[in-house]
Amino acid sequence: MNRRFYCPQLVPRSRIELSGEEAHHLAQVLRATPGTSVQVFDGKGHEASAVVIECGRRTAVLEVGAVESISRESPIGLTVASAIPRSGRERFLVEKLVELGAARLWVYASRRSVVHPSSGFLTKAQRIVVEASKQCGRNILMPVEAKSFEEIVAGPPPHGKRYVAHPGGESASAMVASAEIAVLIGPEGGFVDSELREAEAHGWQRISLGPRILRIETAAIALAGRLLLG
Ligand code: SAM
Repeated sequence: MNRRFYCPQLVPRSRIELSGEEAHHLAQVLRATPGTSVQVFDGKGHEASAVVIECGRRTAVLEVGAVESISRESPIGLTVASAIPRSGRERFLVEKLVELGAARLWVYASRRSVVHPSSGFLTKAQRIVVEASKQCGRNILMPVEAKSFEEIVAGPPPHGKRYVAHPGGESASAMVASAEIAVLIGPEGGFVDSELREAEAHGWQRISLGPRILRIETAAIALAGRLLLG
């Protein structure tokens, strides 16, 4: 049973109040009572042990102990720039990237995109990031931001490697490890030629993930797994 709770303001040896989804998780899912021990994290790299003082249906009060800086981040700063999958599959994309340790997710719309980034998507994605971080022990929330295609292809760190996933590209085994890496995943309909040319002009290298056509989220997760765990 997951005993981690997200609390953006962590002050050592203080009392904090949980509300909303976190209070619901504590009372209805964990069925905590006064005296229950839990862990809290602030999404900025810190965690602490805490004890439940009061636990209602909508709010709860916790007594926080010493706050520690504990990193479970990957040493590789992986930026995943991805088109958004159709509704229902975006959870898989966001959740697995958090678990695997991607540094950030940028979502964008390109010429053939079916789903465009909206504030509703970003709000939902933030909630998925919190849930996945509670589950996997990450103390830093993976940022999810909407960008334009042009910003992405011209933007990622100049010293890092940049790979664009495209069927028929070079084998993924040609990818080189680097402290900063960015990968670009296309929409359901794939990239148009001018987008690939623009990316290549900015130093992005085409990479194939094999002879089968993968869904957006599968391609993103396969690349993240290979680069972060390989
Ligand atoms: N018909 C589209 C095409 O040929 O590009 C398929 C698009 S696929 C559903 C969505 C995205 O996943 C692609 O734009 C690409 O970035 C990535 N992708 C899927 N399968 C891939 C593969 N075998 N190799 C490299 N990238 C792949």
